[in-house]
Amino acid sequence: MDLDSLYQEVILDHYKNPTHKKLSPTYSAQVHHVNPSCGDEITLNVTIESGLVKDVSWDGVGCSISQASTSIVADLMIGKEVDQAFQTVEAFSELMASKGTSVGDEDILEDGVALAGVSKFPARVKCALLGWLAFKDAALQSSDKQGEI
Ligand code: ZN
Repeated sequence: MDLDSLYQEVILDHYKNPTHKKLSPTYSAQVHHVNPSCGDEITLNVTIESGLVKDVSWDGVGCSISQASTSIVADLMIGKEVDQAFQTVEAFSELMASKGTSVGDEDILEDGVALAGVSKFPARVKCALLGWLAFKDAALQSSDKQGEI
């Protein structure tokens, strides 16, 4: 199996069996992000306690890339320190800006590297980034409320 089909499998698996796709009743911040160019919509809850990402949950509709990407980001961020989580979002944003020239760092992005190929398609980059930017937005709002990171 070549890398492309392996990655397609990872994306399809997250799309069919999304992780943490059930909004938690409690959260530090909730955001709703849309990607009008594709029709993707997600609501995402983040709970942050003592500088740690305790929980991420979400619900949404949209294309397989947006939904799989949000599943990946939710799974990836839980348990991380907020600073580390922001660095991970940064690494993914850089990958998406690479226009197909980067394969991404699997140590940092884990399943997120499966989306590397999306960076070749500018129209789909927004789909892939939706969940990551929603997470960052919610985490920033949570941190503001805490008055500390
Ligand atoms: Zn989309």
